[in-house]
Order: sequence, then structure tokens, then C-alpha cells
Amino acid sequence: MVTDDEGDSFNQPLGGNDMPRFGGPATMMRLPTQVTAEGLDVCFVGVPMDIGTSNRSGTRHGPRQIRAESCMLRPYNMATGAAPFDSFQVADIGDVATNTFDLKKSVALIEEAFDGILAHDCIPLTLGGDHTLTLPILRAIAKKHGPVAMVHIDAHADINDEMFGEKIAHGTPFRRAVEDGLLVCDKVWQIGLRGTGYSPEDFDWPRRQGFNVVTAEECWGKSLAPLMDSVRQAIGDHPVYVTYDIDSLDPAFAPGTGTVEIGGLTVWQGLDIVRGCRGLNIVGGDLVEVSPPYDTTGNTALIGANLLYEMLCVLPGVKHGG
Ligand code: MN
Ligand code: MN
Repeated sequence: MVTDDEGDSFNQPLGGNDMPRFGGPATMMRLPTQVTAEGLDVCFVGVPMDIGTSNRSGTRHGPRQIRAESCMLRPYNMATGAAPFDSFQVADIGDVATNTFDLKKSVALIEEAFDGILAHDCIPLTLGGDHTLTLPILRAIAKKHGPVAMVHIDAHADINDEMFGEKIAHGTPFRRAVEDGLLVCDKVWQIGLRGTGYSPEDFDWPRRQGFNVVTAEECWGKSLAPLMDSVRQAIGDHPVYVTYDIDSLDPAFAPGTGTVEIGGLTVWQGLDIVRGCRGLNIVGGDLVEVSPPYDTTGNTALIGANLLYEMLCVLPGVKHGG
């Protein structure tokens, strides 16, 4: 039994030798669930929504499917030695009740929910949901930590001023975040950007704000560990938020998403990026845009579950064994 400094035992994922992996609670990694973040160091929380999407929907089913696929995950990270469940009190606190008929109200509800999580000094790892949800999370985070650095992995910059005349959508969150002063712009990395655009402005606007734009083409055929060395050096100990859009990955790996672009990152490059965040002062993270209706094998949700686990494994203070 692993205990914390007060002698309380840490929650553990339900093991495959205690309950078959196809049974047990339908929570992230079959962890215990609780209603609030009280007493937790880290929580998994779902934000089921897709009314911010511009094309194919379905991400409202993302959190449930990520949880379903996460039943296969074991607690110890064989590659990195991380033992997150010997380090933190972690639980799945369920889903934020969004308003599926009103995107702007949903954004307000998400911010309020994350204010509550952060009031418990708990680090949220969010199962999305479309990328709109990152804006209200950043609003809540900035109230607690001030403007943050950000590692944003995505095929898209998500800095449109408007979509169909609307300021709030899954392609606008980081334009709004800049306007709201939520980011330290020269400590923002956007990695994996690619595809067709409306104009060069799609990637030049973030560059003009000071964002560090790393296109997918710059990543092709390489380990991204050296990139992450430079990211860590530049961000230092500043609070940082990690937002992982699953469409950053090539559709050969992750077809189950709404806005697919060819020529994307590999799964192992995604792991390079998340594992390369170890040492950063991470204050929150999310994994967004998994759309189960387009994920016929479940592999996209499985990758999402693994990347969320990898985020847990690089949070500040995680113990490494072996
Ligand atoms: Mn996105
Ligand atoms: Mn995207």
C-alpha cells in the first residue's frame, strides 16, 4: 500500500487481476470517482461537447470512449519509469454538465466548473470534447496562475477571429486567449500545424503574437526530443498548460476526429512531445477532438487515453522508480 505524507493511501486504478479489464467502473483507468476535486492532487474530468465544431461532430462522445479504452492502461510507465499513482492522489470526477443547446452558456459553465476544481489546488487533466473547451479552462487557470505558457499540439492554429460570424468556436480559442491576456505569447509553442488554409495569415498571425510555430513538415522524420529540450529551456519554471488536439496526429493513426489533415505527426512523436514536457511546471492539460463515430476501431480514443496518462506521468513531483 502506497501512502502519502499523512499516511493516507493513494487511489489506485483497479487492476486487471482483481477485475477483468472489460468490467469494473467506467472511469478513467478504472480509478475511483468522486464528485468534487477535494483532497486530490490531480483529477481526470470530462467535458462532453461538440457544438463548437465546424464540420464533423461527435466529440460529445469523446470522454466516455476515452474512459472505455483506458481500461487497458496499467499504472506503471515502462518507458519512463514514472509511477504516478505512487505520487499523487488521483480520481475521476466525472463530467462537466455543458448546455448542448448553447455554446456560449457551455463556455461559462466550463469556466465555473474549473474555478471549482482549481479552488482545491488540483491539477485538471481534461477529456474532450471539442477544442472550444480550452478557452474557458485557460480563463479559469489564468485567474489562479496568471498568464501561462502553453504547449499546443494540433494540425490547426485555432486562431481564427470568427467562424461563420461567431467569436466562440473550436477554431477560435487561442485568438480569444490572446485578447483576454491569458497567455505569455513568446512562451507558446504550436506543434504539428499543416494542411490547407484560407491564407498564410492562418500561421502568420500566431507568429506575429510571438508564438513559436512548428509545422508538421518541420517535424517529419525526426525525433522531437531536441525540440522539447529547447521548449523546456525557453519556458523554464513558468506555469504551463498543455493542450493536445488528437488531429495533430496523422489520420493513419488517429482517424477518429472531425477535422482530419494528412501528413501529420506519428504516435511516437506525440509521445516525444508529452514526455518532453517532464520538468515543466504543468498546471493543467487536455486531450481534445476525439470523435468516436469516426473511430471505428477505438484506436483514436485509445491513443487519447494513453496521451492523457502520459501527461499524468510528467506532472511536477511525479516519482520515478526502477
Ligand atoms: Mn484544435
Ligand atoms: Mn485541430
